[in-house]
Amino acid sequence: MSQDLHPASIEVSNGEGILEIDWSDGHHSEYSLFGLRKNCPCVLCRGGHGNMNTFDRSLFFVEPTQHVEIEDIKQVGNHAIKIFWNDGHSNGMYQWESLRELCPCKQCYPEQE
Ligand SMILES: [Zn+2]
Ligand SMILES: [Zn+2]
Repeated sequence: MSQDLHPASIEVSNGEGILEIDWSDGHHSEYSLFGLRKNCPCVLCRGGHGNMNTFDRSLFFVEPTQHVEIEDIKQVGNHAIKIFWNDGHSNGMYQWESLRELCPCKQCYPEQE
């Protein structure tokens, strides 16, 4: 992946429960907030250091069991965003690379139903 790959724009729609990213290479990603919350990359949510950077894209296609909203997003350096969730959690640093890897579109994730 190119080093310069980064989001050109990030848009949150709490009403629809999605976060959309337009990437610098023109790719478009749409994540369910529930799936993003469940894939929070922090140690706590991943259940230990050994599980860091293991994500589950199928979580973007499950029926949410919990209503999640994003209250704020802050860019961290030049490589990540921090998401502030309405449940008070904000430990997760979502790196561009991980977010792109998580992209649940048909092209990036052909195994989806
Ligand atoms: Zn977390
Ligand atoms: Zn994609």
